[in-house]
Amino acid sequence: MKRAILIHGGAGSIKKKLWSTRMKGLKDAVLSGFNVLSSTDDSLEAVVQAVSAMEDSGLFNAGRGSVITFGGKVELDAAVADWQGRYGAVGGVPNIKNPVKLAREVMERTKHHLLVGGDAKEFGLKLGFKEYTINDLTGFTRLKTYLNNLKNEKTYYKKLYEANKNVFHDTVGAVAVNSMGDVAAAVSTGGLLFKLDGRVGDSPIHGAGIMADPLSASVATGIGEYIMDSMLTYLVVKYRRYMSLEAACRKALKLLTRYRGNNSAGLICIDRYGYMGWMHNTETMGRAYIYEDMNSPAVGMVGDGFIRII
Ligand code: ASP
Repeated sequence: MKRAILIHGGAGSIKKKLWSTRMKGLKDAVLSGFNVLSSTDDSLEAVVQAVSAMEDSGLFNAGRGSVITFGGKVELDAAVADWQGRYGAVGGVPNIKNPVKLAREVMERTKHHLLVGGDAKEFGLKLGFKEYTINDLTGFTRLKTYLNNLKNEKTYYKKLYEANKNVFHDTVGAVAVNSMGDVAAAVSTGGLLFKLDGRVGDSPIHGAGIMADPLSASVATGIGEYIMDSMLTYLVVKYRRYMSLEAACRKALKLLTRYRGNNSAGLICIDRYGYMGWMHNTETMGRAYIYEDMNSPAVGMVGDGFIRII
């Protein structure tokens, strides 16, 4: 079985002038994940590495690049899941560095699945996690200016809705498979732009934003409330037990699209038999993948795709 990793940088409508920077960020992140996968043969280690590289880049809506809440805060959601059915997550954690690594600590060090808010942060600080300083947060300064401008507008709420619909859906996620066919998934996000303080999205919810079982793993992106309503990754992983990975993804996303319309979601997935793919109903969804025998990663911003790795 060839080792493989596939990552995404969010489903939304990224302007063309930003594509090359995003694609470079995706390429660097997928390579750092793949290097770890090659040296350790550990798919969980690889997805955590790729997602933390995207958190550190400041280019995506995760980690340093996270968008701000309605109240101007940074509240992060992240999760990991693997083929053994293990899952760990953090929700609404204020301003902690590399929340995806904290989600892994929840999975590996506690008997719980999900820690939230200030207490999740305390747990991280006790383990030696650092906080982002204001200078680390690239999304913060960019968006605070935007928010202040909007506040002066009479049409603030309308604009808020419009902003949420299409902007800054650049959450990040990764799926990988090792030489034994063991799959893993990781996700990290600042959530929706201008979300209410305290809002937790789909990303840290098992079966909504992330899920893995011995057969397949999937990560979703898009409007979290819709993804929670349809339990998008649960559908993918469940359908995969009865059909091909491609058919499973298509069926799951079609269901969400039927109820919620286009411009709402995207997903990536991988299975233990060497198939992986991505699919979205939005204008763009940046993604990158690499597997053994490829010289360099394949990176793109639009269109669905499915690949047989072996
Ligand atoms: N799904 C994320 C959320 O709703 C946002 C995204 O995927 O960009 O929090």
